[in-house]
Amino acid sequence: MGCLDGKIALVTGAGRGIGRAVAEKLASEGADLALCDVKVEWLAETEAAVKGMGRKVISVAADVSKAAEVDAAVDAVQAACGRIDILVNNAGITRDGYLARMSEEDWDAVLDINLKGTFLMTKAVAKLMMKQKSGNIINIASIIGLIGNAGQCNYAASKAGAIALTKSTAKELASRNIRANAIAPGFIETKMTDALPEEIRKKMLDAIPMRRFGLPADIAHAVLFLASDASAYLTGQVLSVNGGMVM
Ligand code: NAP
Repeated sequence: MGCLDGKIALVTGAGRGIGRAVAEKLASEGADLALCDVKVEWLAETEAAVKGMGRKVISVAADVSKAAEVDAAVDAVQAACGRIDILVNNAGITRDGYLARMSEEDWDAVLDINLKGTFLMTKAVAKLMMKQKSGNIINIASIIGLIGNAGQCNYAASKAGAIALTKSTAKELASRNIRANAIAPGFIETKMTDALPEEIRKKMLDAIPMRRFGLPADIAHAVLFLASDASAYLTGQVLSVNGGMVM
């Protein structure tokens, strides 16, 4: 018996990194999974892992920044599963650069996927959750959305926006029995952070009181808490998971 038995969870950006760890954690607690990424091929490993736990799984392709693709993906999940109990908006990218040299393309790409993508997916799934009269939305933001960062004005703005979107969603939908919370991860070891130069990684590590980078599993545990009834009275909150880097 898991604490998510009978629940259907949709996770975006589930092909690797934090999204994959989240999908597998929710499945390990009994949820059936709808996996979303830009291409279904990229979901094969996550799908196999979820199936290996005896859970049902459907994989759908969508670029979360495109409304038509998001709507089609949510329709496909609804047709296959009948409902969506948990939505984890995890898909996200970085296109770092200093403000003075930031191109319009890099600004738009990050805002489109990280913020507009979260809005489009939330809007499509919330319609279904309102009909169900229940639901749980978890947005993966970032500590950078709380504190800002030199060289990441686009990313910081997108994640601060995602936090504000989370709070507005929580206020609008609380009376419909739908919760919305955000997680603000610190530095987590994934492909997104692998690309950083060694000197930046060292500087980051020095700034973490727990003296280790986070793992995707650290975020997956926090998602499980927000997805479960253990957090039943929590909405509109930002849970920071960062080894003490930001307090
Ligand atoms: P990752 O390893 O790069 O994984 C991101 C996933 O999102 C990939 O599967 C990626 O697919 C997918 N994706 C990208 N653009 C998409 C789009 N337009 N539509 C649908 N899916 C898309 O990154 P991660 O580190 O696991 O990050 C996951 C989330 O955590 C992101 O929102 C990120 O901002 C946030 N976060 C990460 C850290 C960290 O330190 N790693 C810290 C704070 C917050 P592709 O194969 O197409 O790239």
